[in-house]
Amino acid sequence: MQFCDECSSMMHASGDEMVCSSCGATQSKDADRAAEFVSTEAQTDDDVIESSPDADFEGKPTASDVTCDACGNGEAWYTIKQTASADEPPTRFFKCTECGKRWRGYS
Ligand SMILES: [Zn+2]
Ligand SMILES: [Zn+2]
Repeated sequence: MQFCDECSSMMHASGDEMVCSSCGATQSKDADRAAEFVSTEAQTDDDVIESSPDADFEGKPTASDVTCDACGNGEAWYTIKQTASADEPPTRFFKCTECGKRWRGYS
């Protein structure tokens, strides 16, 4: 949905442009697309975990030496991912068996 810069009326698509139904001002559709692009750029760490190949935790081993920040549950599925450099400790990805919250830890 796009609104007119001049009079704040709702605009409708006309070819490659958006046209104000009230005052006739035109605006490029690109303004809308640019806004969507920015929102996908602003990904959080959670989104990265969500879209990783290891996102399916069910059936994975569970760790009982953890506590979920969200619900206090003491059990979580986990996967271990070795980082590119062997010098660094592997990263553990957890998913709470109770509420499904995901987080990462370093062992
Ligand atoms: Zn207008
Ligand atoms: Zn939880």
